[in-house]
Amino acid sequence: MTETSPIRTRIAPSPTGIAHVGTAWMSMFDLALARQTGGQFVVRIEDTDRTRFVEGAEEKIYEAFKWLGIDYDEGGEKGGPYGPYKQSERLNIYREYIDQLLASGHAYHCFCTSERLTQMREDQRKAGELPRYDRLCRNLSEAEVNEKLNAGTPYVVRQKMPDEGTVSWEDAIRGHVEFDVRNVDDGVLLKSDGFPTYHFAVVVDDHLMKISHVLRGEEWISSTPKHLLLYQAFGWQPPVFAHMPLIRNADKSKLSKRKNDVSILSYREKGYLPEALLNFIALLGWSHPSGEEFFSFEEFLKVMALDRIQKTGPIFDTKKLDWMNGMYIRKLPVEELIQRLQPYLPSDFPQDRMQQLLPLVLERLVTLKDIEELTSFFYRPIEVDAQLLSRKSTPEVVTQQLGEVINAVSPLEDWTHQRLEGVLRQLQEQHDYKKSQFFMMIRIAVTGREFTPPLFETLAVLGKQLTLERLAAAKDLLSTPKTV
Ligand code: GLU
Repeated sequence: MTETSPIRTRIAPSPTGIAHVGTAWMSMFDLALARQTGGQFVVRIEDTDRTRFVEGAEEKIYEAFKWLGIDYDEGGEKGGPYGPYKQSERLNIYREYIDQLLASGHAYHCFCTSERLTQMREDQRKAGELPRYDRLCRNLSEAEVNEKLNAGTPYVVRQKMPDEGTVSWEDAIRGHVEFDVRNVDDGVLLKSDGFPTYHFAVVVDDHLMKISHVLRGEEWISSTPKHLLLYQAFGWQPPVFAHMPLIRNADKSKLSKRKNDVSILSYREKGYLPEALLNFIALLGWSHPSGEEFFSFEEFLKVMALDRIQKTGPIFDTKKLDWMNGMYIRKLPVEELIQRLQPYLPSDFPQDRMQQLLPLVLERLVTLKDIEELTSFFYRPIEVDAQLLSRKSTPEVVTQQLGEVINAVSPLEDWTHQRLEGVLRQLQEQHDYKKSQFFMMIRIAVTGREFTPPLFETLAVLGKQLTLERLAAAKDLLSTPKTV
């Protein structure tokens, strides 16, 4: 196949819980290959492991794709010519292909009980051998097999691996990869519950769905020989394999939800912009050909090429994501930003003051949701910590300072940040107060916090009445006699 023929890719998530950022990451590359060549990107739900199935997980995957703008061509509610796109609805198809392998001698029935297999593995472990099926049922005669089948003995179907030789492929990311087949186990293809294993279903489906390129995580490299041997057994042309590096936590371990948030939808909840998240994940293990850090998803889809994917596992650096998200927020036109903030605003947010409040906190927004935390002291009652207020001084000095501040700003009619700044700087200089203590003290008194937008602007926006009320309340707080 030449690179210009239409490429068909697929993502094959298992609905075992959340919609994982790794799924979106891989899908972006899948989609790029399909778009660049006039091919299709397919979503196939791999739900054959019933023990790990989670109700609602599939819906979350589609919802996450929709939020991110990852548009697929087949699967989900779109369907398509090679459906069904959910493995649990394809059981009769797998049965048909299992029968083919049994008939051609590439697979066999195995009647071993789970007790026997456990004992076998235990013995192997004790003998220092690699745990693997000892092929006991591989040599059963046809008559023996039929007898057990007729008696209704539960069974699985196993892949009959060749005794020797090598399997190899040219990986689009890793180059030549080769395995000795003697190390490949006679793995299960069809389980006793009639469901196929991942290994079997993935091969049958990728073939029937005409997938030309399989992008998946490097944890599947060691399974690829099994898959290639199945392609051989069926006489099918295998797809191009591209094994992507494993995304890692900051400590280099495999990306996990214990150490990172890996749920796409929780990034939406937390107020990340989909375009920022896409940009960030595009840069995991891949770089823009001209070294750019900021680019749109559309551009990524045009310029992505597999040869720029690195083999080493990229780090999921949430600090970088935060930084990028803030940059994206500040690049939005104000009207659009206001619109996109709407779902994140608390019900008591004063919409009529948005134009006034937003410029004050814009620089400090990391996520859209931050708007609440950063602005709430403007419209909700505050709590001031007396100890914090006098931390860099004494309650007596601070009480006096607050009195002076009240006296200095009370007469102001022109309540602008310029006037406030003039008056308060003059007061500080006049008494030679330490700047950091004096202005921080005012900040804490009127906002309850140490980190806020610039002080004078904050006072101006708070307004004269509220500022004076809060200054007075802070003063009272310090002068209220403490019970000993
Ligand atoms: N269902 C597998 C997974 O969730 C897909 C692996 C593959 O892409 O072949 O990881």
